[in-house]
Amino acid sequence: MTCQSVVIVGSGIAGIYSALLAKTKYPNAHISLVEKSEQLGGLLSSTKIEGHWFDYGTHVPRYTGDSDIDALLFSSINLSDYWQFQNINAANVGPFNTLYTDSPNPFLGSKTNTQLAQQLLELTQENNDTRYHEQNFDSLKSQLDATYGPNLTKNFFAPLMNKRFGACLSEMATDSHKIIGLQRLILGDGELMRKLKGSPRLDEILAFASQEEGLSPFKNIYPKGDKGIRVWIDSLVANLEKCGVNIYTQTGISEVNMTGDRVIKSVVLSSGQRIDCNLLVWTAPLIMLIRSAKLTYMPSTRPIFRTSSLYHFVFPDPPKISSNYVNVHDPAFSSFRVTLYSNLAKTTTDEHRVTVEVMHDIEAPAPSRESICQELYDMGIMPVTSRPSLTHVLAASSGFPVLTPAFKKEMGEQEKLVETKIANVVTLGKASGTAFFMADVLKEAKCKLNQYFERNFDDHNEDNIDKSRQAVSNLSS
Ligand SMILES: Cc1cc2nc3c(=O)[nH]c(=O)nc-3n(C[C@H](O)[C@H](O)[C@H](O)COP(=O)(O)OP(=O)(O)OC[C@H]3O[C@@H](n4cnc5c(N)ncnc54)[C@H](O)[C@@H]3O)c2cc1C
Repeated sequence: MTCQSVVIVGSGIAGIYSALLAKTKYPNAHISLVEKSEQLGGLLSSTKIEGHWFDYGTHVPRYTGDSDIDALLFSSINLSDYWQFQNINAANVGPFNTLYTDSPNPFLGSKTNTQLAQQLLELTQENNDTRYHEQNFDSLKSQLDATYGPNLTKNFFAPLMNKRFGACLSEMATDSHKIIGLQRLILGDGELMRKLKGSPRLDEILAFASQEEGLSPFKNIYPKGDKGIRVWIDSLVANLEKCGVNIYTQTGISEVNMTGDRVIKSVVLSSGQRIDCNLLVWTAPLIMLIRSAKLTYMPSTRPIFRTSSLYHFVFPDPPKISSNYVNVHDPAFSSFRVTLYSNLAKTTTDEHRVTVEVMHDIEAPAPSRESICQELYDMGIMPVTSRPSLTHVLAASSGFPVLTPAFKKEMGEQEKLVETKIANVVTLGKASGTAFFMADVLKEAKCKLNQYFERNFDDHNEDNIDKSRQAVSNLSS
């Protein structure tokens, strides 16, 4: 079979990358990108509020280190329009309201941590090596107990995970702490951390005291000016248009037409338009595909997401710190992450934009804007005398999954159903439940799509790969 028509649903970074990859590999194919919102980009988007641009929280693209992915996403942008930096320059507020500007990783080495000696003792116990490598943990609690010791589990992880996800550790799936940046801790100064990280086991779970040490070789980029991450998405959208991808916004898939042998032949948009399809790439929640394809399915649980509310502020004064963003690891605060645009974009106006992300129960009212502004003062991020001239609260459409074993099982069952009932679909992106962070989402997308192309399309040959390289370099010209 030759690749004639690919329909991609969802235009976050997974969908945009998939469209660029499909079009460059199969320049003659009809590639369609379908997005339910008004604009493309998904979480990598910016909104204009009363003349000020705000992102969906911190989203700083970093080169993935995979030359094919990086070529598609970065080679055509004009790098002089972007700041480029290896050091992300982020801070964190650790437990006991300790503002630590040397790293975004949780800092627990402060004098106010009276449990520190016990925590260090438990972390370094010899028998941890064996327990840690068993890896058969039945919950996050047993994983953290074996990995970090009972004291850190009880006094650091439990209250924080409860605040962010509204669940206790024994209800959460293994590794769920990683999606809110709790994988690596800092328990002391540079010398201590270097010494501890000498152990391969501790190296995986502890961070250097300073983000200047152990820097990733891959650059981060962020647009200059005040339009935020939208600048990058706009340039990718221009590339999609330039290479002939058909873009449909404010619409979804209302019908998936299949033959008896499980093959999708066409899809119908909510507008009624039919599009031929010999591969469907699905990056939106799988349950929507299950419904559109009219597959019989009874979910075993309802996946729960924490709402992410975005509190956008404009202050007349600059932040008190020079960090680009701040991770908040103190459960006393509702704030989860603070983005400081005047540092990140190095803008030189008298107006300083700040976004605070807050994770909360979908049913519960969001904290008041006054209380979140007060947190910025209390954490020492904004000067107490600075009163915001703009405050705006927005519920982000996509929240953080509460990763319980039941959630993971449900996502696995949905994926299995789709794979067994539909022959020509590839499921990708954060919504598929197998990757979360941008770089992981992209690497998974590349791998799954290339596997599909190689197995199913006769025109996947070296000639095409050469054409694809040519197409990528054409985009930059
Ligand atoms: C609040 C939050 C903050 C995050 N911060 C970071 C971070 O700082 N760094 C990082 O690496 N990762 C972060 N992540 C992880 C993030 O998931 C990935 O970085 C990446 O952006 C995911 O891309 P995606 O394309 O899979 O999903 P999304 O960006 O969510 O895109 C999915 C798209 O599908 C569309 N869609 C949904 N349903 C339909 C439908 N029925 N029909 C058509 N379109 C549909 C949506 O409108 C959206 O545009 C964060 C995640 C969340 C939830």
